[in-house]
Amino acid sequence: MEESKPKKRLSLTTVILLALLLGGITGALLHTFAGDSHFVDAYVVNGIFYVLGQGFIRLMQMLVVPLVTCSLICGASAIGDSRTLGKVGGKVLLLYLFTTTMAVSLALGLSLLTNPGRGLDMSRVDASSLQTVETVEKTNVWDTLLGIIPKNPIGAMANGDMLPIIVFALLVGIILARLGERSQTVSRFFSEFNDVMMKMTMMVMKLAPVGVFCLVGKTFATVGAAAMAPLIKYILTVFAALALQVLIVYMGLLFLGTRMSPFRFLRKFLPVMAFAFSTATSNATIPLNIETLEREMGVSKKISSFTIPLGATINMDGTAILQGVAVVFIAQAYGIHLRPIDYITVILTAVLASVGTAGIPSVGLVMLTMVLQSVGLPVAGISLIMGIDRIVDMARTTVNITGDAVCTTIVASQEGALDRTVFQRRSPAPEEASALRENAETETYEELQTRYQEEQSKRH
Ligand code: ASP
Repeated sequence: MEESKPKKRLSLTTVILLALLLGGITGALLHTFAGDSHFVDAYVVNGIFYVLGQGFIRLMQMLVVPLVTCSLICGASAIGDSRTLGKVGGKVLLLYLFTTTMAVSLALGLSLLTNPGRGLDMSRVDASSLQTVETVEKTNVWDTLLGIIPKNPIGAMANGDMLPIIVFALLVGIILARLGERSQTVSRFFSEFNDVMMKMTMMVMKLAPVGVFCLVGKTFATVGAAAMAPLIKYILTVFAALALQVLIVYMGLLFLGTRMSPFRFLRKFLPVMAFAFSTATSNATIPLNIETLEREMGVSKKISSFTIPLGATINMDGTAILQGVAVVFIAQAYGIHLRPIDYITVILTAVLASVGTAGIPSVGLVMLTMVLQSVGLPVAGISLIMGIDRIVDMARTTVNITGDAVCTTIVASQEGALDRTVFQRRSPAPEEASALRENAETETYEELQTRYQEEQSKRH
């Protein structure tokens, strides 16, 4: 990879998609032509593919507890800051939480209709993870509720109990914001540790092509092309829920809240969506989002310069949709029945996971492990969807930033910070969009990271 300055480097997205394709083809070929070979089964499929694929999953799991803890502490202290912005902060926060709750509920409802995981027998792909299922203790409703309060936060972290970790992290974040100057050192520690974890995530993600190849290869080698249908169903369900979120939830809210034309809004917002789609990074989209909201919709920067970075950090409706569909998909693939209380837990954790998801590629998938763990589903179930996650990431990021823009526009309209004459003006798509996009596609993860840190420090 490190040849002397190649003219055009393949982006990580392209490499992951290629790995996905090659993994699928290799697996299907192995299944068809070497299905009975002991060597292939023992050393390739259950040897190399297994070790590299599971190794990648373990690396992702390693990130979960520290990443969730730090990013929630930082996210919550950012919300705490919003008190200074009083009404605007409160309103936008409520809208963000509302749209995320709608998103995950929509995703759960739709996947219960489409049943994406039916017909897939994951126990054949990864028998070891079934043990996890059996050992999961299903406690009653009240104990589940009580369990949210950690008796011992360090114990919860050691056991990876996500809900109590979230509660503790949120409390720490809120208190840090309240103490302000007095707890500056601790705030800085968490914010810097958060950066360390983000950097680690990015490093792990560089291994994604290998992980994806092996995971998809193993799946296809074991179940053959039969894995295709449920996977396609899964992607279609996620895409359908994402589309419904934009067309019904967002456009409905926008019309009710501002009386603006949803079609015009979408047309004018398209370049920002295209940008988010190609980069899978909410953070990188912040400047273009603020710019477009001002120039095309007439939203005052006074509002958007606060609400858009906040939204890119804590409002991830597309990510919540992925989590909702993935939970049903994995539960069905493993033949696990989810109870009503489990669905409520999923809604709650997915909303919190959305707060804790950083606006950079793939973090939503890391956070999915936390949602799965909260209802006792096998984390190894991620192996199937991980292979195709890049495409889903691109689409969900598009929805993530659209949600931020819609909520911001509604709040701006209510606060009298919306210039409607700007919105009425017909204008060509902003030229910077394509220039910026080009930039972002060639941007390395280090550059993205630097940009992220700059955004963070601007907010602090
Ligand atoms: N890539 C998403 C974003 O930047 C986060 C995720 O992985 O869901 O918004």
